[in-house]
Amino acid sequence: MSDVSLDKSVNKRRTFAIISHPDAGKTTITEQLLLFGGIIRQAGTVKAKKSGNFAKSDWMEIEKKRGISVTSSVMQFDYAGKRINILDTPGHEDFSEDTYRTLMAVDSAVMVIDAAKGIEPQTKKLFKICKMRGIPIFTFMNKLDRDSRDPMELISQLEDVLGIEGYPMNWPIGSGKVLRGLYDRYNKRVELYRPEDKDNPYLPLDDEGNLKNDNPITEDSVYQDAKESMDLITEAGNPFDIEKIKKGDQTPVFFGSALVNFGVQTFLDAYLKFAPAPNVHETQDDKTVKPDDEEFSGFVFKIQANMNPRHRDRIAFVRVCSGKFNRGMDVTLERNKKSLRLSNVTEFMANTRENVQNAVAGDIIGLYDTGNFQIGDTIYTGKQDINFKKLPQFTPELFVKVSAKNVMKQKSFHKGINQLVQEGAVQLYTAYTTGDYILGAVGQLQFEVFQFRMQNEYNSEVVMETMGHKTARWINPEQLDEKMSSSRNILVKDIHDEPLFLFENAFAERWFKDKYPDVELTSKL
Ligand code: GDP
Repeated sequence: MSDVSLDKSVNKRRTFAIISHPDAGKTTITEQLLLFGGIIRQAGTVKAKKSGNFAKSDWMEIEKKRGISVTSSVMQFDYAGKRINILDTPGHEDFSEDTYRTLMAVDSAVMVIDAAKGIEPQTKKLFKICKMRGIPIFTFMNKLDRDSRDPMELISQLEDVLGIEGYPMNWPIGSGKVLRGLYDRYNKRVELYRPEDKDNPYLPLDDEGNLKNDNPITEDSVYQDAKESMDLITEAGNPFDIEKIKKGDQTPVFFGSALVNFGVQTFLDAYLKFAPAPNVHETQDDKTVKPDDEEFSGFVFKIQANMNPRHRDRIAFVRVCSGKFNRGMDVTLERNKKSLRLSNVTEFMANTRENVQNAVAGDIIGLYDTGNFQIGDTIYTGKQDINFKKLPQFTPELFVKVSAKNVMKQKSFHKGINQLVQEGAVQLYTAYTTGDYILGAVGQLQFEVFQFRMQNEYNSEVVMETMGHKTARWINPEQLDEKMSSSRNILVKDIHDEPLFLFENAFAERWFKDKYPDVELTSKL
């Protein structure tokens, strides 16, 4: 059954993550968005918390940082009648599987690209996950106040590198020192860049897309170039296609500069028009749960451990998929059908204190956890069993060999590893021939957190031996011959006993493919 008032609140929700390469401007644009939402009054607030050089071994620092990142891992604000949830996707040395899993909990993504650099590796990786989910992706080409690449080149790079059509909603009139503004074909106006005078920067365009002739900018060759490019694109480029946008086959592209707050609001306003409200979620038995269904449901997409040894609690992040969350409500944990009371819930950064009390589909709640939850768990109310589709397994890229420092303490070592692997903190592999334990992760920090938690929570000191980057490829067990393995392609099995090779590099993989052309190799995401 659906509920009309619930449907109304759900339709106000817009839940997204920013995907970008470090330094493209994710923090800066987030801050501008929070300013529009009235969450912070001064630019630089989020930044100040983030900056600072954390020595990787300095646990106090990482702990501090982790403490901060709990509140800023979900940022909620109201703007233009919508309730917006931004989910943080940790990058830099914080990059981990959690970063990927966060993308399982959003309804759309904003891709921030440094317009001087174009598409960079981390953006590509995160894009791939969004594309696999088929969610809408909106692009912001940032740092227009600096000399940028040819915008035409930036648009074609979207297609060439990512395989997504770009639809420019506006076009830069110059960049860097000659930045004059934006030719905004979507809003039919020119938005002037006048850093000293922010009032009324808009000049309306007529139906043909022209400015009144007496405006001096029409004489400026920078303007004329931009207009010409935009005309060319209107004539020969991809037409705006909302169906393609919904599926993530076309991305609306906006230009601007987060640092000088130029074009950000223009982006936000259009984004809110086209970004989807929370959608249905599918269960393992192929049923769909509608966001306005009365019964509450959600799934755990991330578990964050407290790095402070005196506070061993963890926070399970739950994406609400249907119904309404009430503090103190009883839910069923699908995996073991246990009943749990949700009384201890954390607050995220928000502009009203009650937000978490009224969470509906699209919102995120953070539950204090003493070990009940695992990543991917479904919780729900009502008699009907709900079990959401499994979260995908991601292909790790970094590997270490791990063993217990004290051979007499194997028991706590195994217990710790098993629990942390179940929780999704790292992935575990076993070498075929030696039986060695190998851990896999997508970010270095995962290993450090693992080591720290083994010591602190399981009293098990571990020794880790770096293996570095490897390319993991699963092999069809029927085709497997242990003789295929060598030091350049180590044969291991995952926790489901499925065999895979860890290739030293792309050359080793190619060499293998040449030698065994019939052997099927597959990767996870
Ligand atoms: P993140 O790593 O993606 O979160 O990037 P930050 O937001 O921390 O930005 C990285 C650096 O680029 C910082 O020094 C910012 O001040 C700078 N930056 C961000 N946006 C812009 C912009 O629009 N123009 C210029 N010139 N610099 C920017």
